[in-house]
Amino acid sequence: MIVIIGNGVSGITAARYIRKQSDEPITIISEESTYFFSRTALMYVYMGHMKFEHTQPYEPHFWERNNIDLLHTRVVSVDTKQKSLKLENQEEFKYSKLILATGSKPNKFGWKGENAKRVSGLYSKQDLESIEMYSNGLKTAAVVGGGLIGVELAEMFLSRNIHVHFIVRETFFWNSVLPEEDAQFVMNHLSKHHGLTMHYDEEIEEILTNSENEAIGIQTKNGDRIDCQFVGLTTGVTPNIDFLKSSNIETNRGILINRKFETSITDVYAIGDCAEFSNPIEGRKSIEQTWYTGKIMGEIVAKNIVGKSETYQPGVWFNSAKFFDLEYQTYGSVSNQLSDEHDEFIYTNTKENILLHFVFEKETKLFIGVNNFGMRLRHQVFNEWLLTNSTIHHVLTNLKSANFDPEFYSKYENDIIDQFNTIFGTSIIAEKAKWWQKLISN
Ligand SMILES: Cc1cc2nc3c(=O)[nH]c(=O)nc-3n(C[C@H](O)[C@H](O)[C@H](O)COP(=O)(O)OP(=O)(O)OC[C@H]3O[C@@H](n4cnc5c(N)ncnc54)[C@H](O)[C@@H]3O)c2cc1C
Repeated sequence: MIVIIGNGVSGITAARYIRKQSDEPITIISEESTYFFSRTALMYVYMGHMKFEHTQPYEPHFWERNNIDLLHTRVVSVDTKQKSLKLENQEEFKYSKLILATGSKPNKFGWKGENAKRVSGLYSKQDLESIEMYSNGLKTAAVVGGGLIGVELAEMFLSRNIHVHFIVRETFFWNSVLPEEDAQFVMNHLSKHHGLTMHYDEEIEEILTNSENEAIGIQTKNGDRIDCQFVGLTTGVTPNIDFLKSSNIETNRGILINRKFETSITDVYAIGDCAEFSNPIEGRKSIEQTWYTGKIMGEIVAKNIVGKSETYQPGVWFNSAKFFDLEYQTYGSVSNQLSDEHDEFIYTNTKENILLHFVFEKETKLFIGVNNFGMRLRHQVFNEWLLTNSTIHHVLTNLKSANFDPEFYSKYENDIIDQFNTIFGTSIIAEKAKWWQKLISN
């Protein structure tokens, strides 16, 4: 019996790919919901763009047809010597191979009032239900934590005309990821949204509550009081692994794994948000908390479980998100601090609300990565440029081929090259790009 704990994208992908290659019995145990749903679509349910049922990509009969058993309960502990799990109702459940795919949980930092009513993170189906329940008659909400999920929660409230106080500890938005110029660009964009009050460089001291233990405001470390009737905590996530404390599976922040997703214990694997690479791939994080990496991990662990040895090779890093209507994509590596051996070119077009932030090697001009706000650039093209050691000149002179809408792009083509030439005092033309490319390829 192969047992998977967690029916998120990682666990479900693993189950599907094992079933394609093996007839061994599979059981998926998950506490949040019986059926898999798309976590990334939760905001659209709140905003009325879809019903919750529409976030479930597989019909209930899919699981029966594929002989995959679903158990809607919580695992409270794992005994790897007996190869058994203890369930919430104290029942024992045996496994031959175990996949841990238990995802993340929203961070809490021990603030007074953090467990009060009218306080919630945005992670689970239950969080959404709680936010929905408290939205009735809600006039003002506070969202604490400047990251992608905070922006989603703010957008959700604004869609219902609920005023939002967005509290960001740092001086710049999402500065653990974005370089300062990019963060400033996003901040300018956010500042245009009616009903949204941004508070930068502001930290929460405690959540104020009334006699019913309901949130009524926030006391900040700067001594301000922000009145509200709901507090959203979006201060990052942590691997959801507390139930493993009594087991002998090695953990750090997450469950420690090698590149085949094997843990320290034979026949126990870990994938997705809860897993941490002991030896991460160069340039990538030890814990990868994105949808597409969870999917890739599910596919690869399935191969390893059925005996086809394969290691994790996810290719070039990419991610995408939206800051309200501003689209963001990143390909390759653009870190929040430029390193000494790298140079950067930042193209801005404030009229059209576009910023492109390119990073390349100073010496060789090798293209390292791009942050893109406001345009749509093709993943496949950038992937190829990054894998084939393209130069910044090659990228800029061929940028049209990466744009989803070449007609739209032709408006900016010359402007981008002109800005680059002005800053670097060079003259990029197609010939020069070819010359650099040849040099770097040899
Ligand atoms: C609001 C939101 C928006 C997001 N948007 C994006 C996006 O646009 N793009 C992107 O790439 N990523 C996005 N992410 C991140 C992405 O959704 C996650 O990286 C991904 O869902 C993680 O999948 P997973 O399968 O590893 O874990 P999860 O989806 O967290 O699934 C784990 C499941 O295991 C269950 N579980 C945990 N412990 C136990 C236990 N002891 N017993 C039984 N069951 C247990 C949990 O209840 C949960 O259902 C978003 C996340 C959130 C919260």
